[in-house]
Amino acid sequence: MSLIEIQNFIGGEFRPAHSRKVLENTDPSTGLVYSTLPRSDAADIDVAVESARKAFPVWSKTSPEERSRFLHAIADGIDRQQATLAAAESRDQGKPLWLTESLDIPRASTNFRLFANQILFTPVESNEFSNKAINLVLRKPIGVAGLISPWNLPLYLLSWKIAPAIAAGNTVVCKPSEITPFTASLLCSIIKEAGLPPGVVNMVYGLGAEAGEALVKHPQVPLISFTGGTATGQRLNAVAAPLLKKVSLELGGKNANLIFADADFEEAVKTTLRSSFLNQGEICLCGSRIFVEKSIYPRFLARFIEETKKLKVGDPTLKDHFLGALASAAHLQKVKSYVELAEQDGGRIETGKEEIKLDPKHQGGYFMRPTIITGLPPQSRVMQEEIFGPVVTVTPFESEEEALALANDVPYGLSASLWTQDIKRVHRIGQDLQVGTLWVNSWMIRDLRAPFGGMKKSGIGREGGLHSLEFFTEATNLCIKY
Ligand code: NAD
Repeated sequence: MSLIEIQNFIGGEFRPAHSRKVLENTDPSTGLVYSTLPRSDAADIDVAVESARKAFPVWSKTSPEERSRFLHAIADGIDRQQATLAAAESRDQGKPLWLTESLDIPRASTNFRLFANQILFTPVESNEFSNKAINLVLRKPIGVAGLISPWNLPLYLLSWKIAPAIAAGNTVVCKPSEITPFTASLLCSIIKEAGLPPGVVNMVYGLGAEAGEALVKHPQVPLISFTGGTATGQRLNAVAAPLLKKVSLELGGKNANLIFADADFEEAVKTTLRSSFLNQGEICLCGSRIFVEKSIYPRFLARFIEETKKLKVGDPTLKDHFLGALASAAHLQKVKSYVELAEQDGGRIETGKEEIKLDPKHQGGYFMRPTIITGLPPQSRVMQEEIFGPVVTVTPFESEEEALALANDVPYGLSASLWTQDIKRVHRIGQDLQVGTLWVNSWMIRDLRAPFGGMKKSGIGREGGLHSLEFFTEATNLCIKY
């Protein structure tokens, strides 16, 4: 079978890396290579940035209405290609097809529609000063934005950056994850069909240390929006700092679920199952540390294990499989190494070691059963470091103070879920929990206007609605004397 050849998209044209080098791309559910992507380097980034720079003067002066029409046209294209994109995303990342159909691809089109609408109705900030002058805040596009995205929600997160960046009048050079380039390449065809002027969106594939870092270093790229791991974010911030770039960092998490005895038990079990294992636990918002009030701990643990054992793992195209494959062989190995570490540290593997029955086609895939660990000390590496797979710990707590201290006692601060019926407790914990998002009696309800981002090592900045548009623009205060 011939391999699909993914190409860079620069100045509206598809082309290989100038070096002609390629990387291989694997289907995680079979372990077989099915496509290649350009192994681009600084020379390709230079050409892409030049193309984006050329497009900027005209694009940045188009009216919001015109830009809005283009964004809607791209969203229409995504909707028309929904089935193709959903199949491609599932194949490239290993996640279940039902999930790409219901979450990843619809969200990608919603991302474009949200900003297509938002730029038409964004209020202009103004302040009157002491009967003397009026201040008008002009928000201006900045130039070429560098957009770097991860592999866990490939099109969902890439479009979450492209849409606000171009809606605000910037042009972009994107560097999607080398592990999941497929839907980014299909998006380029949709963008071309939508008639977006050449150079407004450029896509360059390759390794982070080569293509990604060249983009961050490029002197003509004044802003970088990055989503990925914390170590990469730290590196990228160090590279960008001397160049005084505007940087947004959406990084890792080690999120807590706090389940109090007064919670709706059934709802807490059901949602915790999803927040633990949806997308194989490969969502930055997954709750991987589950803390349960002591009085309900035995009952919760028993039900949680029972329900987890029922989750089916395997062929991502089958509807009854809740988990597909992990994204890569290296990632599967990393996740499994944490389970071994948990055992060495005295943890008990409550479930996760059972064999997975796979059909012959999927024998070489990167599958793993959802795994529950108990009995670990909160300071153990498994409870402190981001694993980013279907592995959770369950730990009892005695008081609200203890629950709060346990939840905050990690280097991360992305999100948490709180399960309680006590509204005063909701306010207390809401004030003191160090997270960017706290879901109360829920998980992953995403209003795209809400500020989204992390505290501590989970990132710098906020994305979402006006927060994204603010990042992708620079303010000029026009002070006019009467
Ligand atoms: P990663 O950091 O390995 O890679 C992310 C992107 O950065 C890739 O495109 C990669 O090629 C690029 N990159 C790597 N090194 C680079 C460098 N030196 N300079 C420039 N670019 C470089 O992350 P990943 O493994 O793809 O994704 C998983 C991580 O992403 C997890 O930690 C997860 O929590 C995080 N994540 C965070 C959010 C959020 O919104 N906070 C969302 C999704 C994923």
